[in-house]
Amino acid sequence: MKETTNNTAEDKKRNFIEQIIEEDIQNNKNEAKVHTRFPPEPNGYLHIGHAKSICLNFGLGKNYKGKTNLRFDDTNPEKEETEYVESIKTDIQWLGFDWNEQVLFTSDYFEQLYEMAVTIIQKGNAYVCELSAEELSTQRGTPTQPGQESPYRNRSVEENLDLFERMRNGEFENGKMMLRAKIDMTSPNMHMRDPIMYRIRHVEHHRTGNQWCIYPMYDFAHGQSDYIEGITHSVCTLEFEIHRPLYDWFLDQVADESKVRPQQIEFARLNLNYTVMSKRKLLQLVQENHVSGWDDPRMPTISGLRRRGYTPESIRNFAETVGVARRNGVSDVALLEYSIRENLNKRSARVMAVLDPVKLVIENYPEDKTETVRTENNPEEETPTYRELPFDRELYIERADFMENPPRKFFRLGIDREVRLKSAYIIKCVGVEKDSDGNITLIRCTYDQDSLSGSGTEASKRKVKGTLHWVSVKHAINAEVRLYDRLFSDESPDSNKEKDFKEFINPNSLEIRKECKLEPSLATALVGDKVQFQRLGYFCVDTDSAPNALIFNRTVPLRDSWSKKK
Ligand code: ATP
Ligand code: MG
Repeated sequence: MKETTNNTAEDKKRNFIEQIIEEDIQNNKNEAKVHTRFPPEPNGYLHIGHAKSICLNFGLGKNYKGKTNLRFDDTNPEKEETEYVESIKTDIQWLGFDWNEQVLFTSDYFEQLYEMAVTIIQKGNAYVCELSAEELSTQRGTPTQPGQESPYRNRSVEENLDLFERMRNGEFENGKMMLRAKIDMTSPNMHMRDPIMYRIRHVEHHRTGNQWCIYPMYDFAHGQSDYIEGITHSVCTLEFEIHRPLYDWFLDQVADESKVRPQQIEFARLNLNYTVMSKRKLLQLVQENHVSGWDDPRMPTISGLRRRGYTPESIRNFAETVGVARRNGVSDVALLEYSIRENLNKRSARVMAVLDPVKLVIENYPEDKTETVRTENNPEEETPTYRELPFDRELYIERADFMENPPRKFFRLGIDREVRLKSAYIIKCVGVEKDSDGNITLIRCTYDQDSLSGSGTEASKRKVKGTLHWVSVKHAINAEVRLYDRLFSDESPDSNKEKDFKEFINPNSLEIRKECKLEPSLATALVGDKVQFQRLGYFCVDTDSAPNALIFNRTVPLRDSWSKKK
């Protein structure tokens, strides 16, 4: 059984994790099985970095015809909540992945983990220690100085078993005792200096309630849970490389040769510029109301990106493009934006929306006439489809598409100049009206009645420099449009040691336009629908939207305008 890869894995260059896996399959290691897991801690919403890890772990499971578990690493009862569990499941499914059988929780293994700890005590390799947190930290030494052995290190197995059981039974208060692995206080690897395995926490757990008052530490629980589940390749981020000897040490204590022995493999975490990705910092943004919630469209969370209008395909493609690296680096958010633009270009209809409207009247167009003009939905479609738009005497155009005294290279509308109205006629400006403050209130035009797009006449083929989008005044629907920019104005907001990352929040990251005018076909747009507003960008219907109070989010402008702004 050697050819377990599918075409996609064969066609492209393998990353180093795929190379390891394929070698293991060749060698029939673990009977050539591949079983990965994604182990989030339910203490926040998932972000784009997690999406990378999800695509990697679930992708490996899928491509090598293996399995991928979803396991909640819920060993830290103070910070964890069921709300986060639900959001994480939603996000993984939305990204297009399915976990193996049911959702798993480290807390399901609390009893087994406890028994494994007892085994380690019985082997003489773990002890109950009563040092205080401060004593523990001084006694641990530094990377250049060896640590000191705890005075409790040489307790007898019987005494340790008795105390550990009493810890479990709730006889001691928080911090009074802990269970430590007995490894090596002089190890150059600080993680091997008798690390803590269990601590006492008299707190309620979101799943096990008050059943436990001792909780296992991540390093102990993680590898043992991998082992319990028969995980073959335990993929994690680089910061765990230095924990690997401990991961292996814990496995050595309990592993049965006849069972799968998980291998920890580290890769570089995904970092993005112009944002922060630590859950602690994202939580701060939410709690201090810098954003409207975890799913604020400016957040790098999966729920924020979804609400912003990102598609699962665009995120999966982005994850594929950034690849799997062994060294940490920073990816450019422009790459993520490129990936959504490319996806939306193919799938979204081009529609007309005027975000900063000014009225235009065609003086030689009959007052009571409305005609319908035909327009193509999406030039990317293989078989073109069309829709109809009402056209009449009064229209809205963008204020920025008109200038009274335009420079020569301004190819939009000016007095005595001609432009084409998209899918309709060529018009010429003959004058303007202004209010007492000098603001233009009306643009007066005439039209060439033979110039209708697609009508086949000579005039319809006439070339003019500019084409503008427009919406009929009588038929327009009102909408609110939210324009987003990057949440931070600095490329790496959290790497400045003197300043708090929040000082770099972009004050103009959200601009709300309440008086936008849309073509009537958008009246039935539903939450999540995605369209291109011609010449403006890709937009989607926001979750706050309602049938008579439409709200659109700008996902991305048509082009990367950021570089020009600097
Ligand atoms: P925190 O942000 O609080 O440090 P975390 O991001 O490590 O926490 P977990 O819930 O433990 O949060 O992460 C689940 C999985 O996602 C882990 O396997 C972790 O390695 C991976 N992961 C987290 N952040 C990234 C990232 N930026 N790039 C790739 N993988 C990531
Ligand atoms: Mg983590």
